[in-house]
Amino acid sequence: METKRTIRAPRGTTLSCKGWTQEAAMRMLMNNLDPEVAENPDELIVYGGIGKAARNWESYEQIIASLKGLGDDETLLIQSGKPVAVFRTHENAPRILIANSNLVPAWSNWEHFYELEDRNLMMYGQMTAGSWIYIGAQGILQGTYLTFIEAGKKVFGTADLRGKFILTGGMGGMSGAQPLAGKMAGAVILVVEVDRTRIERKINEGYCDYIVETVDEAIQLVNELKEKKEPSSIGVVGNCVDVHQELLQRGIIPDFVTDQTSAHDPINGYIPNGMTLEDALKLRKKDVKTYERKAKETIAQHVRIMLAFQQAGAEVFDYGNNIRAYAKEMGVTNAFDFPGFVPAYIRPLFCEGKGPFRWVALSGDPGDIMKTDALAKEMFAHDEGLVNWIEMAQKMVKWQGLPARICWLGYGDRHRFALKVNEMVASGELSAPIVFGRDHLDSGSVASPNRETEGMIDGSDAVSDWPILNALINTAGGASWVSVHHGGGVGMGFSQHAGQVLVADGSQLAADKINRVLVADPGIGIVRHADAGYEIAINTAREKGVHMPMLKH
Ligand code: NAD
Repeated sequence: METKRTIRAPRGTTLSCKGWTQEAAMRMLMNNLDPEVAENPDELIVYGGIGKAARNWESYEQIIASLKGLGDDETLLIQSGKPVAVFRTHENAPRILIANSNLVPAWSNWEHFYELEDRNLMMYGQMTAGSWIYIGAQGILQGTYLTFIEAGKKVFGTADLRGKFILTGGMGGMSGAQPLAGKMAGAVILVVEVDRTRIERKINEGYCDYIVETVDEAIQLVNELKEKKEPSSIGVVGNCVDVHQELLQRGIIPDFVTDQTSAHDPINGYIPNGMTLEDALKLRKKDVKTYERKAKETIAQHVRIMLAFQQAGAEVFDYGNNIRAYAKEMGVTNAFDFPGFVPAYIRPLFCEGKGPFRWVALSGDPGDIMKTDALAKEMFAHDEGLVNWIEMAQKMVKWQGLPARICWLGYGDRHRFALKVNEMVASGELSAPIVFGRDHLDSGSVASPNRETEGMIDGSDAVSDWPILNALINTAGGASWVSVHHGGGVGMGFSQHAGQVLVADGSQLAADKINRVLVADPGIGIVRHADAGYEIAINTAREKGVHMPMLKH
């Protein structure tokens, strides 16, 4: 099989599939592999270490061919990125059901995963890579921005971070949103990235302002920009451990410290220090065991330094890459002394069913997204934060692949908004259908004890019935495609999660599905948190009439 090609989703209204739902799945899969969107499309890698869209090129071709032939009463099954069957179902059923990277719990570790991957039996789907709803760095931008401003409110009592200094690591697929999110929050943000080409890419995409080569230059620039209170982002080429260590030694304590290198995967994600990037990549190929040990040792040192920053007064938090767990495995017994971002800042939003909702214009016309932006601003005019977000995104976020918008909407708002958009598609105001979806990192769709479900008040962190129920109810409701994955975000053995995507093609069928799926999907987030005993979720369930047979008081 040929392995290099350039994929770009078709635009416009000419269909190459039998219906818009199949066409949407095809375009979204292709969009995940668009070189503007994917981190390494030649290897089918979309983001998050080795998060892939399809198992191999042969599977990719067969998925496309299957989608082109798929009827409105059929369902295509995908097993870890490979199309394995098409069955007769019905019009209201999902057109595609996806199960990626799932392993029986006693076997669910990277070692076993890589054995299977070598034998071409499995792929790593991350969250939105294998479920075809990745929208580039924008997909995490608003969440990162919200995380920074919530951290700001906690420490300084303000969401305005002007004059404040954030230190972090990683400028890849998702981590590449950090520089822009920090700048949007008003801060000066320094991002350590070992791979110069990643920083250059983010500068070209408008996500980062400056690139520097040395710690001295970085410090000088941070100080100047802080002094001027100028919101800005800097990428410094280097390994986190080396740069952080030097800052610490010089007594430079940032206001906030976090990290988003691919620490969830110590073999194909995190880069050890003490060698050049090129040598690290060679070592990975030549002697994977030594590579893994060195990566884990570096992770341990990285976390020790983060803990030292915390001791020195910085607000330190884990940003969803499981760095603490690998450090703990390497003997850093107090690795969990700094919290994860969900319990620290985001959980109250989850309690209201809010999370990283997004939509994509299948037309490829940015004008369609501008019209949906206007609708969101009109419908949610009372929500100052949301209106500001849309205005900032319009100014600062460049389109990547098919035009898209991320917007954290909650229960009630998601389906009301989608219904209006469906009407706009029906009336021709929008030039083609819109795809609605979300990250698996949402309020009721993930069990991940070191991340989304860390420190649940009832101790139910590791209960993974919830994402399974989420996928089942979204299937029953007739989402366009539904996915169940394992290991996303934090790596093998640490998470289970589900996704759904719904196509608004202007039909009554789509409206009916919106009324079911976009109610139940955020609804289960409220239920999961109310069941655990969170007051905000209990009140939201009561106020919004979410039916929970055993909800007390
Ligand atoms: P990625 O692999 O595309 O990028 C990670 C970057 O880190 C790469 O550019 C790599 O060169 C760099 N890097 C690795 N080790 C380094 C080191 N020691 N020093 C400096 N740079 C180093 O991955 P991504 O899509 O950006 O995701 C990053 C992490 O965030 C993953 O662990 C992913 O699972 C997690 N994630 C978190 C969230 C969230 O909401 N918090 C969402 C998505 C992904």
